[in-house]
Amino acid sequence: MDKERRLIIAGNWKMNKTVAESADLVNGLKRELSGVKEVDIVVCPPFTALSEVSKAIIDSNIRLGAQNMSEQNYGAFTGEIAAGMLRDLAVRYVILGHSERRQYQKESDALIAKKALAAHAASLKPIVCVGETLSEREAGQMKAVVETQTRGSLAGLTAQQIEETVIAYEPVWAIGTGKTATSAQAQEVHAFIRQILGQIAGEAVARKVRIQYGGSVKPANARELMGQPDVDGALVGGASLEERSFADIIKNTI
Ligand code: PEP
Repeated sequence: MDKERRLIIAGNWKMNKTVAESADLVNGLKRELSGVKEVDIVVCPPFTALSEVSKAIIDSNIRLGAQNMSEQNYGAFTGEIAAGMLRDLAVRYVILGHSERRQYQKESDALIAKKALAAHAASLKPIVCVGETLSEREAGQMKAVVETQTRGSLAGLTAQQIEETVIAYEPVWAIGTGKTATSAQAQEVHAFIRQILGQIAGEAVARKVRIQYGGSVKPANARELMGQPDVDGALVGGASLEERSFADIIKNTI
């Protein structure tokens, strides 16, 4: 697929997979995807499996991501993980502000922005998630919600940092529900997010930022979604838990 920006497809394993299961999955992906040069491939296992997966992907085309991190650098923050600790395991990306964390941990845009700054300071690339709920969409608030989240979650970042940030547009009503946004719905919001990025960081930067779509991405819909001009990849939940479906999503976009 000929795209303006290089596609980035990331698997968010959420709270699934033991260490042994994680190693099995990533070893299978390595075999399946070793020839893929056109797409940035990222897997985001649970924290407990990062070390094992990190060792398994040395010298492969698969990169490592985490699902969250602290906005703090070190110290008395029981249960938290700092950006530097992730770097220590050769983690390159970190998902921030996933809708599940916004909902269950009540993460705010301001907190997500602090985390994004801490991630960049440690040379980690944040994947910042934004997206509206079904009731917000039905109330005609989709653009207002996405704009507030995008501006708030990137507050304080330099244009250079924004260029090195990945945005994931994930309509909450499409996550884990089997309901996918149509490619036209996704393109509309992606183009809108790029317009906001242009206002924040300038047109040249906005043209370089990769915006992933997330929400029930499967092998059958990946090609059409990623064929949209402003859709630069996918953040995949359920379908990233199996070697066949995650590999096929990637292969179907080449
Ligand atoms: C996600 O949680 O980021 C996600 C997109 O999940 P799913 O693919 O299962 O809808």
